[in-house]
Amino acid sequence: MILVTGGAGYIGSHLVMALLEQGENVIVFDSLEVGHIETIETLKKYGNLKFVQGNLKNLDDIRGAFLVNKIDTVVHFAAYSQVAESVKNPQKYYYNNVYGTLNLLNAMLEFGVKKIVFSSTAATYGEPEYTPIDENHPQHPINPYGKTKLMIEHIMDDYDTAYGLKSVRLRYFNVAGADSKARIGEWHEPETHLIPNILKATSDKVFKMFGEDYDTKDGTCVRDYINVEDLAQAHIKAIDYLKQGGETNFFNLGTNDGSSVKEVFAACEKVKGESIPLEVCPRREGDPATLVADNKKAKDVLSWAPEKDLEHSIKTAYDWEKELKSRISE
Ligand code: UDP
Repeated sequence: MILVTGGAGYIGSHLVMALLEQGENVIVFDSLEVGHIETIETLKKYGNLKFVQGNLKNLDDIRGAFLVNKIDTVVHFAAYSQVAESVKNPQKYYYNNVYGTLNLLNAMLEFGVKKIVFSSTAATYGEPEYTPIDENHPQHPINPYGKTKLMIEHIMDDYDTAYGLKSVRLRYFNVAGADSKARIGEWHEPETHLIPNILKATSDKVFKMFGEDYDTKDGTCVRDYINVEDLAQAHIKAIDYLKQGGETNFFNLGTNDGSSVKEVFAACEKVKGESIPLEVCPRREGDPATLVADNKKAKDVLSWAPEKDLEHSIKTAYDWEKELKSRISE
């Protein structure tokens, strides 16, 4: 059985859907503080899914999941992930992300589970020294969120040396899009990410573009948008890699291609078929000009490659927005 922590959240739920659709038995462990019970209810329709509500900060909660289930691999998404909040409230981030992971690893060691796929992030690299960013790029995170993820990567290395725990750390760039059938999707409160914010904009709540004076092709920030279903497939490849006896490893997950905020905005207008109200605002603190992944290592070692383009991500995100709106107004 595969244990997915944070499986009721955005990225985790897309992996759970992909695993269920290929007939895997899955157990989701989630506090539902950020994730949604409605997501679990939807996922349950597509296969053998067990749900345990619990918090990684309570060792007994996670021990309980291992006690009653035969778990062979863990995929660990559960974490707080808002950069700005992590700067304002680092205690919340270190306590939840780092201490929570230590509890998870404790339980894994106690029950002899030695394989984990971990949600890491491009934020572990910090301010880019060159682009595209490969896995050899120095890791100097510039905010507490990125630091928690890097600390966990270091902990996993030491647990491999001492206890033989094998980890694959997947460093995501900008995740985008939703399930192709609009069954699940991105559902954050409050929403801070670019694509949903553009799609949600109305004349009362115009889209705020943070800065157009960057040293980039059109003055707006360039990011590498990786489709969430493509990302789920990379996790499946990482699980297989560990099952085949793969050593501890780490991979960038992105497309090798960058899009500016203005390009994403234009693509959203095209998908919506209407003009979207826009206000150009000052830069948001802590945003580097360009973040693009070199994904060669994931292609070579995991035999993974992204298949869905930005327009597909925007279209599925828009279909999901409409679905979510209709569910909320029911
Ligand atoms: N952005 C923006 N308006 C928004 C949200 C984001 O202009 O309402 C910009 C942001 O400044 C960054 C890019 O869009 O340059 C991607 O931001 P997001 O928060 O989606 O992801 P991040 O790159 O911070 O992980």
